[in-house]
Amino acid sequence: MLQYLIIQLDDTSTSYCHYYNGKRNRNLISIDTLKSGIMFGMKENLMIQYILPDYELPDEYYEVLESIDHSKIASSGSPYASVADVVVLNGWNKDYAFDIEGVYVLRVDKRTLFEKTSEILKVLKECARLNIVITDVEKFSDADFETYKSVLDSFSKELEALYVAGKTPQLNLLTDRMMLDGMNNCNAGSDSITLAPDGRFYVCPAFYLAPDDEDYGLGKSKVSVGSLASGLDIKNPQLYRLSHAPLCRNCDAYQCKRCVWLNRKTTYEVNTPSHEQCVVAHLERNASRALLMDIRKHGTFLPEKEDIKEISYLDPFDVRKEW
Ligand code: SF4
Repeated sequence: MLQYLIIQLDDTSTSYCHYYNGKRNRNLISIDTLKSGIMFGMKENLMIQYILPDYELPDEYYEVLESIDHSKIASSGSPYASVADVVVLNGWNKDYAFDIEGVYVLRVDKRTLFEKTSEILKVLKECARLNIVITDVEKFSDADFETYKSVLDSFSKELEALYVAGKTPQLNLLTDRMMLDGMNNCNAGSDSITLAPDGRFYVCPAFYLAPDDEDYGLGKSKVSVGSLASGLDIKNPQLYRLSHAPLCRNCDAYQCKRCVWLNRKTTYEVNTPSHEQCVVAHLERNASRALLMDIRKHGTFLPEKEDIKEISYLDPFDVRKEW
């Protein structure tokens, strides 16, 4: 069931996920489209999330934005970073001044993550929550998987020390799985939908921002799923639901994003993940398991949660016949 309406206010509004936003020309949503989008959200009882641009909006826009409950996503370079609920850092900046109560998305490629692990893990004690998004996860090699394992181990040791010291930092890659009892994926196209400046709906911002000529073998990537004028029209909506994802519905890497845009890009199917996405998510799952056990050596921790069970695979595709 739809729960969230994401409104991409401008073509240049930051990415906060795996996709790259290469748009440099401003294209602000019209005030009428914005108002209609908000009305749509109200009628459908959706929680609204605005993705703000890196420039000041005209006053009349800000009044309209504030006319309804919402959350704000802005890049660290946006004039709205100080009032955003989620601040996005595009790339690593060791001099960035984090807010101890802030929630951040750090978008980095694997190379930066691997090379700057010891700097990045220090952020865990400088903010309330850090979401690390690896922007080239589909390019992981077997050697990268090994490196990622040791990166997660370094983050785990830092988290364990902080938890033992009475702090409760959150890192999406490790602490989410410890807290979850069921899937908590992105669910674009199922739980959320995006309204773009052109007045059309898209499964997520990535499907709007795809270059006009991008084609992964299925025709154009930039495909809308309806508009404010004609209504929402998602073809085969069941394909975006967990119940119709044969691998994911049996999986317990609950923290996995299950990114349908990455799925489409890598396997041509929105409900079929790539090997890389699954292995990365399982390395995180297994590291979360080890972290939970390590923290529990120091005392009672999350007593209501069962241990995360040991499994023998990293890609559910390998055990699909057993399910
Ligand atoms: S790890 Fe793979 S199978 Fe499991 S939820 Fe993520 S994408 Fe789906």
